Order: sequence, then structure tokens, then C-alpha cells
Amino acid sequence: MALNVTPEERRRIAALTASDRPLIVCDIDEVVLEFVAPFMAYLDSQGHELRTTSFRLAGNVFDKKTGQAAEKKAVSDFLENFFAEHDAWQKPTPGALDALGAIEAAHDADIVFLTAMPPRHHARRRALLDSHGFSHPMIATEDAKGDAVAGLIRERPARAVTFIDDLPPNHISVLQAVPDALSLHLMAYQPLRPHLPPMPQGVTSVEDWPAATRAIAEFLAKRGR
Ligand SMILES: [Mg+2]
Repeated sequence: MALNVTPEERRRIAALTASDRPLIVCDIDEVVLEFVAPFMAYLDSQGHELRTTSFRLAGNVFDKKTGQAAEKKAVSDFLENFFAEHDAWQKPTPGALDALGAIEAAHDADIVFLTAMPPRHHARRRALLDSHGFSHPMIATEDAKGDAVAGLIRERPARAVTFIDDLPPNHISVLQAVPDALSLHLMAYQPLRPHLPPMPQGVTSVEDWPAATRAIAEFLAKRGR
């Protein structure tokens, strides 16, 4: 796993792998921080718009003046620039901070953020999370999420794992690596919900953080945690 992180972050991640507490692996964009809404606002500032007519970014970004679809490369440049200054745009999703605190306290759980982004953005994103009170360790990697989670639990294969993410392919990746994980689909931006593909087998869709909190409590009760 590529871990281009500070010694302090490395220490916090190492503590997770040495623990047998239930593990909650939590995505960031669209899960604890809004992504779609602020990315739309960012695109607007760049003379573009995201049309949320299907569940994808590439092909759905348009120049507002010409109506032309932006090329894939242009969309990835927008994303890169957005993340380079995302702290000006992204806000926490409703209920995320309270829910994580409650889950941690109720189940004596370890929480780790797992975000699919180049590790070079780690420091800036770490500072943004801290500024909103999210102090849990964070792994920023472009590896498959299943590989990242498997790496985390290699020492403790029996531990109860919950994975929370808005992208179905990430759930498939994690369920392949950790088939007995609780896989929760959570997505802050509601207007995209009708365009979601069917959830992969084994994934539970939850509407918001209170619903996620209840699903985790049920799952851990069954595991005797
Ligand atoms: Mg996400």
C-alpha cells in the first residue's frame, strides 16, 4: 500500500493493525465530505456544468457557453485542480461527525478514512478533515480499495469490518477481499440516487448517517460486539 504520510499518521494507521476492535473503513468524498455539490459549484466557476443525468463524471461535464462535452482529460484536470484547492469548497455531509463519534463510542470501534486520491493530496485533505473535527487516521491511495482493506486486516482476519462508500465498484473490490464485511452504500447527493446502477450483491443501501449507524449496530450485535 502506498503510504506517503506523516510519521504521526503512520503511527495511527499502525495502531489500527495492532487492534482487534471492530473496524469501520469510511470513504471521504460523498460520505463524510460533500463532493458532487461542491464540484458542481467549482465547475460553474470554471464556466462548465455537470449534468447529473447519469452516474458518471466523464461525458457529463459541459462547457456552458458552447454546450460541448468536455474531453476526459479536461474532466480529470478539473478534478485535479478541485482537489488542489478543495478545502475552499467541501463541507461535511449532514450528521457524519456525530454519527462517527457515536459509532466509535457505542462499539469501541476503530475508524479509518480510505480515500481514492493520489497520496500527494494527503496533507491538504488531512488538514481539511481536522478543521471539521474528523481526527481519525486517513489513508489516501490509488490502489484498489479491497487491497487497501485487506492490507489493514492482514494481522487480524477475524475482526468485524464495515465498509462505507458511494461507488459500487469499490464495494465489489472490498467484498472480494473481505467477503464477510458489512458493505454500506451511502451517498450525500440525493439527486443522483435515481441514476445509480443496481447495487452489487451483498451491499446494503442506506439513505443517511442515522440509517448507517443503525445498520452498523445490527451487524455488530450479530457479531457479538
Ligand atoms: Mg466517494
